Amino acid sequence: MNRTAKPPGGTLLVAPRRDLCLDFANTVSYRGGDPQESLHDFGELVRWCAANALLTADGCERALRWSDQHPEQAAAVFADAIAIREASYRIFFAIAARRVAEPRAVAVVNRALAAAPARRLLVRGNKGFGWQIDRDGFSAPALLAPVLWSAGDLMVSPDTIRLRHCSNQLCLWLFLDDSKNGSRRWCSMQACGNRAKAHRHYLRTRTA
Ligand SMILES: [Zn+2]
Repeated sequence: MNRTAKPPGGTLLVAPRRDLCLDFANTVSYRGGDPQESLHDFGELVRWCAANALLTADGCERALRWSDQHPEQAAAVFADAIAIREASYRIFFAIAARRVAEPRAVAVVNRALAAAPARRLLVRGNKGFGWQIDRDGFSAPALLAPVLWSAGDLMVSPDTIRLRHCSNQLCLWLFLDDSKNGSRRWCSMQACGNRAKAHRHYLRTRTA
């Protein structure tokens, strides 16, 4: 056996980020106000997967060609992916708000995890080890496998204590608070933090 050779076929997934599931959940902005969707169809979903290293450029092209030939199936995969995203958002929002996650939302993620390709094989790639997975077609659990692992890993990890939703009630993006004293309130200072500061300043000067 050639011990350095990659097993034939499959995809090598290297270093999925631990908060990948939150990035996916945050593909809707302003959930507390006028929600802005950034994934409108299967094509946008697979491009998001490629941009976040869930799919290679080649895999992305293949998925797009497949969706051209199977538009109805692609639309069903897209609907499944959005259902997984919404269930994940509800779970993580509940955890961030120190509430109990809805069992229905957990069941959606569990069903998808069970259908996702298994993380069984570690293979050395150019930049270190990665998970070798075999995607069986373009189902939502297959495309989103690293998102689902990230969701499961985060749910069972002590990091849930650092899970927050943005204090801007219009934004409500999710993030992990890695600040030393655990006091981060905004998804980003540039976006929501500065807006809140400007608003406080406005209120102060108005009532002065
Ligand atoms: Zn925000």
